Amino acid sequence: SDPNLRYRRVILKLSGESLADAGQRGISGEELSAIAAQVKQAHESGCQIAVVVGGGNILRGAQFSGSNAVVQEATAHYMGMLATVMNSVAMQDALESIGCPTRVMAALRIDRVCESFIRRRAIRHLEKGRVIVLAAGIGSPFVTTDTAAAQRALELDADIVLKATRVDGVYSDDPEKNPHAVLYESLSYKEVVEKNLRVMDATAIALCREHDKPILVFNFKTDGNIVRAVRGDNVGTRISV
Ligand code: UDP
Repeated sequence: SDPNLRYRRVILKLSGESLADAGQRGISGEELSAIAAQVKQAHESGCQIAVVVGGGNILRGAQFSGSNAVVQEATAHYMGMLATVMNSVAMQDALESIGCPTRVMAALRIDRVCESFIRRRAIRHLEKGRVIVLAAGIGSPFVTTDTAAAQRALELDADIVLKATRVDGVYSDDPEKNPHAVLYESLSYKEVVEKNLRVMDATAIALCREHDKPILVFNFKTDGNIVRAVRGDNVGTRISV
């Protein structure tokens, strides 16, 4: 394994949108393959990887329930969790097709589709060199997969939460709207909260802060950045105490 390896075990949070073509919904075979190749590269560096996949490319509960009067908000959140299951099994096939052994573990029981998340079994898969893809968030409505990433990082004793985004890290303002927005190299949890920076949802930040779990926000669109993040190379914005 790689002597540069900094993290022994990581949670990699991929948004559902990372599986779609830019500005589109659904799942793009090309995007899926590109990310799977990067995950494989990171895995081959010797790091244990648990991927948490979002579902926003298909459905977000809060948005969907807001857009119609029929589906209850809780129902819509369960629909969002099911969306993450679709993304997760697609990711599993993409990873296995390039020779990266993978198990999907869902926080909801869907026995014919994937395993259920059981903490000790998840750790066992990681120790045996399998990538695990954690589907259905935490299995409860009214939170997002960011919260799931933080929560699983704690219980699986991951060294860090790697939050993959389409921008280079955390900026002082929206870089797509404000050309003067500056990129932070590092931030404290306190600064994230006080400056109201959009990093992960508030519950996720609170969990990480409470338990000193660092977060790295980085750009996965730059090829090779997932392995760089795993190695602790200087990419993105690091959030810690
Ligand atoms: N969701 C949920 N509980 C969870 C994780 C997800 O209710 O533990 C629902 C929630 O409605 C969320 C949707 O699933 O909006 C899809 O996840 P998310 O928005 O986090 O996806 P991403 O933005 O990362 O693509």
